[in-house]
Amino acid sequence: MADLNKDKDVYTHDLIGERLCLDFANTVSWHDSKQSQEWLTSYEKLVNWCLHADILKKQQSLLLLKKAEERPSEAKKVLQQAIELRESIFQIFSSISNEKRPTSKDLSILNSALVNAYKMMRIVPEENKFSLDFLNREETLDGMLPPIVQSTVNILISEKELSRVKKCEGDPCGWLFLDTSRNRSRRWCSMADCGNRAKARRFYHNKK
Ligand SMILES: [Zn+2]
Repeated sequence: MADLNKDKDVYTHDLIGERLCLDFANTVSWHDSKQSQEWLTSYEKLVNWCLHADILKKQQSLLLLKKAEERPSEAKKVLQQAIELRESIFQIFSSISNEKRPTSKDLSILNSALVNAYKMMRIVPEENKFSLDFLNREETLDGMLPPIVQSTVNILISEKELSRVKKCEGDPCGWLFLDTSRNRSRRWCSMADCGNRAKARRFYHNKK
């Protein structure tokens, strides 16, 4: 039986990207190094991360995990697809943070995911307007991907946001974030993590 509590470690993962797609890109530790560490090692971990990131509700997560148990090979494929999409998002925004153009290969992976995402989009009536949402995320095993794609598109089509995509200066951290600080001064994924390490290194060098 699917158990959401099995993956408590997922909940210790920081969401520091300021945008969903950047947090998703950060589901690898030391993303820029050969010793990088994959977090999404199973479909279950993917679902749990999406619950943690608020893409899925608890009920939707349980339904997806149940479906994945019935269709393990399809679930495995979705996990591969999610990781491929994540790596493209990572490469696209890494390039942009480096003032380079993303490769057409990465853009085409994103574009394929976009076609699927649009298929799930619905106009939902609200009180005085309509909103755009992705319905029935629990219906297909890849139902959590469209909101991530939408978040990616939202940054790409916004000049203002695009110019604020940065990569943590802690080498080889590789984590991405949107610098929402007023004077665009953010340099680290987190001050407690890479920020502190840099400070300690500076201290050591000064002493030398
Ligand atoms: Zn960092």
